Amino acid sequence: MLPLPLLRWEAPHQLVDLVRLAAEPGARLIAGGTDLVPSMKHRIFRPALLVSTRRVAELRAVAVAADGACSLGAALTLQEVAAHPHVRTAFPALAAACRTVATPTIQHMGTLGGNLMLDTRCMYYNQPAGWRSALGGCLKCEGTLCHVAPRGTGCYAAHSADTVPVLMLLGATARFVTVAGETCVPVAELYTDDGRDGPKLPTGAVLVAVELPPPSRPVVYRKLRQRGAIDYALLLTAVAPAPEGWEAVISAVGPRPVLVSAATRPALIDAVYQAVQPLPTHQQSSTWRKRMLRVEVGRALAALPD
Ligand SMILES: Cc1cc2nc3c(=O)[nH]c(=O)nc-3n(C[C@H](O)[C@H](O)[C@H](O)COP(=O)(O)OP(=O)(O)OC[C@H]3O[C@@H](n4cnc5c(N)ncnc54)[C@H](O)[C@@H]3O)c2cc1C
Ligand code: SF4
Repeated sequence: MLPLPLLRWEAPHQLVDLVRLAAEPGARLIAGGTDLVPSMKHRIFRPALLVSTRRVAELRAVAVAADGACSLGAALTLQEVAAHPHVRTAFPALAAACRTVATPTIQHMGTLGGNLMLDTRCMYYNQPAGWRSALGGCLKCEGTLCHVAPRGTGCYAAHSADTVPVLMLLGATARFVTVAGETCVPVAELYTDDGRDGPKLPTGAVLVAVELPPPSRPVVYRKLRQRGAIDYALLLTAVAPAPEGWEAVISAVGPRPVLVSAATRPALIDAVYQAVQPLPTHQQSSTWRKRMLRVEVGRALAALPD
């Protein structure tokens, strides 16, 4: 059993208090805690103050406009998002993505906001502190060397949040509040090429809601993983028709999801194969994952209407 360190805990009811507490030095937001708590037990994160998002009404709200646009509070659980009647009918790929996260128990605790803010993952990083220190840490945590690419200077830890590829193709925007005011960022612009970086945000920013525009096109989502539950993805694929052809977002292959577009379906499969270079995982080689890119994009495209 890995213990948590002693720390301060706050669970405000008002958004203004949540934002103020989130801006305190050493503070970190916690929603379901399904990713943060294991990471704290592994001493990856060592916050002095945890601020719970779960009691603030704005973060638990759903608003549906007459045109079908929808605002989903960041502290809604994945299970609540997947079960919402409007999400199920207007954004079925988002409901499907929520239902593939881990297990039903984790979907019951884990939130949409926590999923968007999920840290990147790597087999050398998501380990207990003693395990990491035996290797001398790595560029992302306590060290000076990357064990995946020892001659490189970047970090290739994988972005593995199941909902993000679908949200990108749906044109979703993330609405944040800081002590300085409100800011909206397209989900597609949140992530960077370096696995050491979290989402690009002002310090202390609270994700309040995910804003979905009216549904305008069908999106198909696929998750390739070792087992049918619990496992993170080996490949995440979302595809949709675009004004000048077709688009795909591929994730779980590097620090940020990759958007690829092409004029025809076969060209999209080729373009994804050229654009995406998966790294090996402890389960599968990079060669196998690269081959599976064609298979997964082909299967996703086949599920779209002509
Ligand atoms: C066994 C296991 C398997 C898993 N499998 C998957 C999987 O297959 N796919 C997947 O996507 N995830 C997976 N996860 C990770 C996790 O369960 C989900 O990503 C979940 O959605 C995280 O939400 P949370 O509310 O628990 O986030 P937390 O753990 O509470 O927080 C995660 C991060 O988000 C930040 N955060 C939370 N809310 C906000 C907010 N409102 N504003 C700003 N920052 C915020 C936190 O500070 C923290 O950095 C798995 C976890 C476990 C333990
Ligand atoms: S890819 Fe990133 S997290 Fe993994 S070993 Fe290299 S620096 Fe560390």
